[in-house]
Amino acid sequence: MGIAENYGRLRKEIPSHVRILVAAKGRTPQEIAEVIDAGATDIGENYVREAQALYNTFGKMAKNVRWHLIGRLQGNKVNKALPIFDVIQTIDSLELAKAIDQRAEKSGKSIIPVYIEVNVGAEATKSGIQPEYELIECLAREISRLSHLSLEGVMTMGPMLSNPEELRPYFKQTRMIFERIKSLKLPNTNVNILSMGMSDSYNVAIQEGSNMVRLGRVIFGERVL
Ligand SMILES: *Cc1c(COP(=O)(O)O)cnc(C)c1O
Repeated sequence: MGIAENYGRLRKEIPSHVRILVAAKGRTPQEIAEVIDAGATDIGENYVREAQALYNTFGKMAKNVRWHLIGRLQGNKVNKALPIFDVIQTIDSLELAKAIDQRAEKSGKSIIPVYIEVNVGAEATKSGIQPEYELIECLAREISRLSHLSLEGVMTMGPMLSNPEELRPYFKQTRMIFERIKSLKLPNTNVNILSMGMSDSYNVAIQEGSNMVRLGRVIFGERVL
């Protein structure tokens, strides 16, 4: 099946309260244009440079969708990232949050929606804040004090496990963190997105409360790198 058909089928199959974010890494502008034409509203990019190239290629059409940064943001890329991304899903330190806050105004954006990325498997190789609730609450409170950031969600990758059922406990734990952060009702925050689940795991993630799944391979096919 083609890209548009895959997206259409998934959009029908996945409950309407769950947003589908299209994970675009490694795909061509033609492939991404096809999924936008098929109705995609949210595009996720891992790399600032790749997003910038796409954004320029698309011109006006780029404004028809929301752009999410779902890869690690290095401090020296913040200036380049801010004009492109509508949402930054990978905040894992106060240092990064502050770097964005300080540069927001210059970039012409008064408020940047951000999510906290939780490294729920506590894996040494992954980015994200450690899954200790007190640490995460502390970061959320700090973000709520930054005038140019709006905390709107929690994101996780979860460990790479072949059986999605094995991810369930990690998704449950992330959901609990999300609910607790949401229930704090911190000033200047609007925590309502739980971004978890990918091509192999989105069904389990939705059962565990995800309301944003990030999908690449089920839409575009296997990545050829
Ligand atoms: C690549 C990627 C995805 C999508 O992965 P698929 O297995 O292709 O669905 C989701 N989230 C992040 C952060 C990614 O890097």
